[in-house]
Amino acid sequence: MKILNFPLLLTACLLVFSHLATQASANEQFEITHTLTVELSLEDRQLKATDHLTRSDPKNPWPLFWHLAPQATDIQATADGQPLTHQFIDGKLSLPELLATTEVLTLSWQAHFADPIPEQTVGIEDPSYGVRATIHEKGVFLSAQSDWLPSAAGYPATSRLTVIGPRGLIAVSNGLLLGIEHKGVHTVSHWHNRTPQTRQALSAGFLELSQTEHNNTQLVILFSKENQSLALSYLEATRQYLDLYTELLGPYPYDKFAVVENFYPTGYGLPGWTLIGNRVLRLPFILTSSLPHEIVHAWWGNSVGVDYGSGNWCEGLTTYLADYLLKELSNPNEAREYRLKILRDYASLVNSGNDFPLRDFHSRHNKVEQAIGYGKAAMVFHMLRQKIGDQPFWLGLRQLARDFSGETASWSDLQNIFEKSSGEKLGNFFEQWIDRKEAPQLSLQETLHYQLNSNWVIEGKIIQQPPPYQLEIPLQIQTEQGNSRQVIEVEAGETPFRLETP
Ligand SMILES: [Zn+2]
Repeated sequence: MKILNFPLLLTACLLVFSHLATQASANEQFEITHTLTVELSLEDRQLKATDHLTRSDPKNPWPLFWHLAPQATDIQATADGQPLTHQFIDGKLSLPELLATTEVLTLSWQAHFADPIPEQTVGIEDPSYGVRATIHEKGVFLSAQSDWLPSAAGYPATSRLTVIGPRGLIAVSNGLLLGIEHKGVHTVSHWHNRTPQTRQALSAGFLELSQTEHNNTQLVILFSKENQSLALSYLEATRQYLDLYTELLGPYPYDKFAVVENFYPTGYGLPGWTLIGNRVLRLPFILTSSLPHEIVHAWWGNSVGVDYGSGNWCEGLTTYLADYLLKELSNPNEAREYRLKILRDYASLVNSGNDFPLRDFHSRHNKVEQAIGYGKAAMVFHMLRQKIGDQPFWLGLRQLARDFSGETASWSDLQNIFEKSSGEKLGNFFEQWIDRKEAPQLSLQETLHYQLNSNWVIEGKIIQQPPPYQLEIPLQIQTEQGNSRQVIEVEAGETPFRLETP
């Protein structure tokens, strides 16, 4: 269980970043395209950008306002080459002269990003580490919500991105890597993001590229020289996890997956890539814990977003499918131990004063929120799978991935999906696990055993504190002849049971 806390710490950050980069609806036809050139100056901690914006359908209006980092200066705008006036207040850019007939809107700006970077992960409960955007001598991280590039709410965008930096500095963003060129004192990185998203993050570092193709998915590893010996094992593990989860969950939602080394300790999960701190990468358990967790987030958290207003189901599901399921596949005893660890954490950390229903979980800031939003939620998915069976469970997840790609889903959407896949009414199940806080408290009373003919009979009562849950409790009796197991339906405060063993 040594690996539990750290991967959770690493991967919790997804909440901060991915929902802000929500994709467009699958039905959305209209999009904006950025053709963007960014020059990075590490010494000045500054970027200089020129962005040519076009629309997929000229009949659709341009946005009235653009979000752009409040740090932006020297903003200039032209419409089909003609200068435009603009207003820029508190990160909001408006272009009152922009005409509906404008074909190419060109914006240029500069911005200084210098958030301090953390040195340690230990003890940091804020998974964003407080870094929204930083250009540093060791590298660059510009989060989606830093608005390092212009975005407009409701206007999903694709991008062709060219990033120019000092020689050796390779930039990474959403989409496909088109190429990296070393030209004199500069290195130029080219990316093409074809999945419409309102915002996207950018990182850059002094990294070396390992690249391959697997089932039409580009696999990219970008590690520093000192971590090059790990590149092949990350590449191979990524390939295996993509195969496993594609089989379980349906097609991988992006055209590439990149594992990228960061120059400060993070575990960011981004659409089609993950950004992992340089020292963290070397920890032996990351390959079998954080990496699959981030890959599963491609399906839940990035492709299928979370309707946060009704609670965050995504961390529990991702924890269940990565951190837990891999143990189940390799060793049932480890899987059982993992479930017990979840229960122990819940029992020891959560009390009536700090408990809350799963519906109220949004993101993790402390161990109690982790025990509920990750741990209890993972157990809810485990109980759901036990209740409806494997086939409807996996079918439901594949439907969720397909039907909600580019959309957000709520707990109610999950209930509907699993009701359809199983043919069962699940209202009580979801209500008691999502809307109720606390957990059942069970005990055995009046147990007795006696011999009847050649068999043993065990009788007793399962008692639970009111108000009672609807539960299916597996009872197991171990004898010299083997195990007898029976599932007892429990609905009331007191449920008698009787088992007979051969
Ligand atoms: Zn996560």
